Amino acid sequence: MPVTSSPPFQRLALIGTGLIGSSIARAARAQGLAAEIVATARSAATRARVAELGIADHVVETAAEAVRDADLVIACVPVGACGEIAREIGPHLAPGAIVSDAGSVKGAVIRDMAPHLPRHVHFIPAHPVAGTENSGPDAGFAELFVNRWCILTPPDGVAPEAVERLAAFWRAMGADVEIMTAAHHDLVLAVTSHLPHLIAYTIVGTADELAEVTCSEVLKFSAGGFRDFTRIAASDPVMWRDVFLTNKEAVLEMLGTFQEDLSRLTRAIRRGDGIALFDHFTRTRAIRRGIVSMGQDSDSVDFGRVHPTLPKAAD
Ligand code: NAP
Repeated sequence: MPVTSSPPFQRLALIGTGLIGSSIARAARAQGLAAEIVATARSAATRARVAELGIADHVVETAAEAVRDADLVIACVPVGACGEIAREIGPHLAPGAIVSDAGSVKGAVIRDMAPHLPRHVHFIPAHPVAGTENSGPDAGFAELFVNRWCILTPPDGVAPEAVERLAAFWRAMGADVEIMTAAHHDLVLAVTSHLPHLIAYTIVGTADELAEVTCSEVLKFSAGGFRDFTRIAASDPVMWRDVFLTNKEAVLEMLGTFQEDLSRLTRAIRRGDGIALFDHFTRTRAIRRGIVSMGQDSDSVDFGRVHPTLPKAAD
């Protein structure tokens, strides 16, 4: 419901206005969460598009300019760019401002940003666990965070009132908020997000390397399962390069566990162990049902794809 009294923030600065930044701009405006929204992006082309879309009150050229007098600053750039952004904005941040981000990895963001931020701001890293395979300001939409989790990873010593203010901001955009340490976040997300992306990138890459004729058949018969991996494997290459470079330890740990499980299933297939395969697939089916019952995906058959009508029967 839109906030009718004075907005909780006076000036929201969004550094980076792709899928996530532009979705925050749209949702914050729709919910009246900031009196003023200032946006910036690296390229003149993105800044021009954001101005054209009219999703921010001001579009400025630099991050330093964007954060001036802002009481909430959110860096919505690839994880690998967060340190450089912090270095640029550090000297221009207003006392008492909340500084956050949206990065998919949290330990590296804290390591790279914290040294450049003055003691007079509240640094509260965040990760909205919501997204699509699309990038850029046109890809965003106000409802992106509804019924999705936003994880906050405040470092020790951050004022609880500031954490609550940021949590309320995310809740007002429809998200549920959970607080955990950065290390725990990185481990959990390694399993739920980073590993699935790596697997999808691998499978789709393998198909691409097959002989031309087989590859064209993979595309033709992709409804057998392959196409569901291609959505994930179409995700932004810069963002995902940075995720694997910055969450290396946790991903390698989970990859080790995954490889053991894959070996177990390989062995079951080789030995014709139907019971082991059946038990495993029964367990995984229950996990899918759990996700649907927790409202994290729709229960529409075939992911809600619209099926064409039957051809007309011959007379
Ligand atoms: P995006 O659509 O590609 O947008 C990225 C934005 O960052 C653009 O405005 C881009 O400016 C700017 N940017 C890129 N590289 C930069 C650099 N080196 N220095 C300064 N600005 C730079 O990406 P996104 O999907 O919104 O992702 C933003 C952050 O949210 C990432 O950290 C990602 O891990 C996290 N996240 C993403 C998802 C998802 O599903 N996509 C979900 C949750 C969290 P230009 O357009 O001018 O290049």
